[in-house]
Parts: sequence; structure tokens; C-alpha cells
Amino acid sequence: MATIFTKIIRGELPATIVYQDDQVTAFKDIHPVAPVHILIVPNIEIPNVNSVEPEQEALLGHMFTVARKVAEQQGIAQSGYRLLINNGPDSGQEVYHLHMHLIGGRRLGPMVVRREE
Ligand code: 5GP
Repeated sequence: MATIFTKIIRGELPATIVYQDDQVTAFKDIHPVAPVHILIVPNIEIPNVNSVEPEQEALLGHMFTVARKVAEQQGIAQSGYRLLINNGPDSGQEVYHLHMHLIGGRRLGPMVVRREE
């Protein structure tokens, strides 16, 4: 079964794609939490960081150069942005196809809200 992101990458489901090459696709998150909220996704299905392999290091590094390009394209390279990867249940990961959130366009506040012990 293809993931929802694979279907977007193949053009089988609609999405606003802002960047695509033979390794990575970047598209707008359907429920943005900030003025800019893009998902940067490897074209191959890697469920999450728990299953990344050493031979995928070039691909994983490429996600960062794409993040740089997309941040510049979206006009937030200088104002700043956050890159975030959820991994597993405690993180709230919803889609088990590795993806980097690129979030910006406003002051984002603390990364994780401190919980009262
Ligand atoms: P996660 O919680 O797995 O890190 O993030 C999954 C993200 O995918 C969420 O921010 C969610 O809004 C986004 N998302 C889920 N389904 C779709 C979809 O069909 N299209 C797009 N563009 N984003 C989606």
C-alpha cells in the first residue's frame, strides 16, 4: 500500500508542490501551523528515522539542501524557520513516510512547551 505522500509524489493525489526532483518532493502541508508550512519528503518510502540506513545518507543530506532552497524560495531564509521531524508515537507522527516540516513566516515560540512535573 502506497503512503498518502507517495500518492502525492506520483501525482495521484492533489497537493501544492513547491519543489520536486528525482530524490525529494516538497509540498504545502494541508493543515499549516504557520504562514509557511512545507513538507520535504524523500521520493522513496522510509517510514521514519528508525529505519534510515547508511546508504541513504546522501538522500538525507539532500533534504537539507532542498530545505535551504525552499526557505529561500518562500522568502523566509533570513527571517528564520524551524525544521522538524516527528518520529514515532510520543512525537505525534501521523504519516509513516519520513518527512521534514519546514515552518516559518512568524515567530514560532518555544520548540516544546515545558510540562509541569
Ligand atoms: P506528522 O505528524 O506525521 O509529522 O505530520 C504529518 C503532516 O502531514 C501533518 O502536518 C498533516 O497536516 C500533513 N498531511 C496529512 N495528510 C496530508 C495530505 O493529504 N496532504 C498534505 N498536503 N498534507 C497532509
